[in-house]
Order: sequence, then C-alpha cells, then structure tokens
Amino acid sequence: MNETVRKCVIIGSGPAGLTSAIYTARANMSPLVIAGLIPGGQLMLTTTVENFPGFPEGVDGPELMMKMREQSEKFGTEFVDEDVSSVDVSSYPYRVIVGDKEFLTYTIIIATGASAKWLDIPSEERFKGHGVSSCATCDGAFFKGKNVIVAGGGDVAMEDGIFLTKFANKVTVVHRRDRLRASKVLEERAFKNEKMNFIWNSVIDEILGDNKVRSVKLKNVLTGVVTEIPCDGVFIAIGHKPNTEIFHDKIDLDEKGYIKVHENVKTSREGIFACGDVTDPRYRQAITAAGSGCMAALMVEHYLEEKEL
Ligand code: NAP
Repeated sequence: MNETVRKCVIIGSGPAGLTSAIYTARANMSPLVIAGLIPGGQLMLTTTVENFPGFPEGVDGPELMMKMREQSEKFGTEFVDEDVSSVDVSSYPYRVIVGDKEFLTYTIIIATGASAKWLDIPSEERFKGHGVSSCATCDGAFFKGKNVIVAGGGDVAMEDGIFLTKFANKVTVVHRRDRLRASKVLEERAFKNEKMNFIWNSVIDEILGDNKVRSVKLKNVLTGVVTEIPCDGVFIAIGHKPNTEIFHDKIDLDEKGYIKVHENVKTSREGIFACGDVTDPRYRQAITAAGSGCMAALMVEHYLEEKEL
C-alpha cells in the first residue's frame, strides 16, 4: 500500500502547537494537528488573559485559542480532535497512531503542554467533581456564598483565589511555606482582597465530608499540628506536570519528565521537535509557548529543505 507521507504532524493545540501550525501552513507544509480530545490547551481553562501582546483590553483564553485555530485553518491546517494513542519512531518516516488511524510523517512537532498536578491524597480523588477541582474558572460559579480553600502559592493559586472571590464569601489560601511564589502584582492584588486570607506553612492532610466537601484537615509543616477547618470546596493550584507519557523511551526526557531540547526545539531524535510547556518548566507563558512554536516550525522547514523531502 502506498501511504501518503505528511511533511509535518503537530501533536497538541495550545499556543505552541497552533503557532507552529500557522507557520508550517503558511510555508505550504499542510500540517496535520492532532488537537486532543480537549483542544486548546490550558488557556481554555482561563478567563481574561491580560499579558498576551496585542490585546490592551485583555482577551478571553478560549477566544484567543479559537482565533489561533482559525488563523491556522485559513492557511490549510487540518485538525483531528482526538488524543494520540502512540508514536512509532522505530522506522522512518515516523508513524503517529490515533485510535484506529495512522499518519506517516517526516517530522513531528510535540506541543502536548502540561497538566495540573494533584495533591495525591485519597480523599482528593474521592471528592473530585464533588467539591474538589483544579479549575477555578470552570467550577467557581458553583460556590456562590460559600467558603473555599485554594492550595498553592504561585500565580495560578492567586489568580484562582481572586477569581473565586467573585462567587465565594471567603477564600482561604493554604500554602506550604511562609511566603508566596506568585509575582508581586498578583500577590498585592490577593493581599488587598478582603475576601482572601492565608494560612501559611501548611498542607492539606485530608479532605472530609459525606457526599460533598465539609472541611479540610490542615497540617502545619513546622509544628506537625493538625487543625480542621470547615469549607465547601477545595481548589488545587500547585503547578503542572508535562504531558509526555507517550514519549517515554522514544525521546530523551529530564528527571521531571520534560522533553530535553537543544537549539531551543530539537529533541534527541532527528526530525522530532518540541515546543511550549512540554519542554519548559520555567517560563510557561502563552507568549513563550507561541514563540517556541514558531521556532519549531522554522526548524521543520529547515530540516525538510536540508533532507530534500
Ligand atoms: P508554580 O509557580 O510552580 O507554583 C506552584 C505552587 O504550588 C508553589 O507555591 C508551590 O509551593 C506549591 N506546591 C507545589 N507542589 C505542592 C504540593 N505537593 N503541595 C503543596 N503545595 C505545592 O505553578 P503555577 O502557579 O501553576 O504557575 C505556573 C507558571 O505559570 C508559573 O511560571 C507562573 O508564573 C505562570 N503563570 C503566570 C501568570 C501571569 O503572569 N499572569 C498567571 C498564571 C500562571 P512552593 O512555592 O513552596 O514551591
């Protein structure tokens, strides 16, 4: 059977994947984006994005992603809104397997991003969807007039906390240290917000309730003292982990599972490039992801030219 070999398959549809799609499509490479069952990446879970250049009034995350997708489609990008099952790199061209479909390709751009981390305590699992959430913008409205806990001390915890004060009576941030990791601007906004308060040097030990959350047990990490405080919901905002499960043993990953890159976007395997949060434990911004998506696309173009493919 004479299978078509594609020039470029992009895995992931956040700012990195879609920027690489715009660039490769404009360069006539007819890219195929395997967008995932939940396309659009983490910006789909945010409200207003205030720091993406070009939008002085801010822009809604989902709207921004929709526009990037439209822009890539305008230049001929194809989409498959499913998850990649596996990638076969044992022969060249490479093979990207999506359910019962297979796509042969000369190059792959991996832009699978990162996902929210969980506390990994049994009661968290029990109450997921019943008062425990990792997405304030998705679930905040369910907590009108209630008391909620936010776990974490980074930018996302502050943004989530501030967002939740639109609905909740009281938002209590529980952080494992005595100072925040969040940027000063968000810290100041959070400290000024009268509905927000902070419990320092503490972690959630257990979430209690019957069919919904009623309280949390907090452990002070310095004294070991455990206290129970009533609440109706728990939002987990403790960072992210890279989505690289399907690439183990295929390309080099670092000890935390991020894809190792050299020259910004080259992976350990020829013809496979990576961009965005899946390579980046440090900056993790929509704009840096988009920038590295552009780099990956330019490298693909260069690679195909060099190989005369
Ligand atoms: P983050 O900056 O890594 O912060 C994670 C927070 O969770 C830290 O405070 C960390 O504590 C805490 N934490 C981690 N594991 C924990 C555990 N097992 N138990 C309890 N606490 C735990 O992650 P993020 O807030 O998700 O932000 C991700 C990136 O996006 C960052 O680079 C951030 O700057 C960026 N971001 C930027 C904006 C913006 O500019 N507007 C908005 C959102 C996100 P420690 O502090 O002790 O490590």
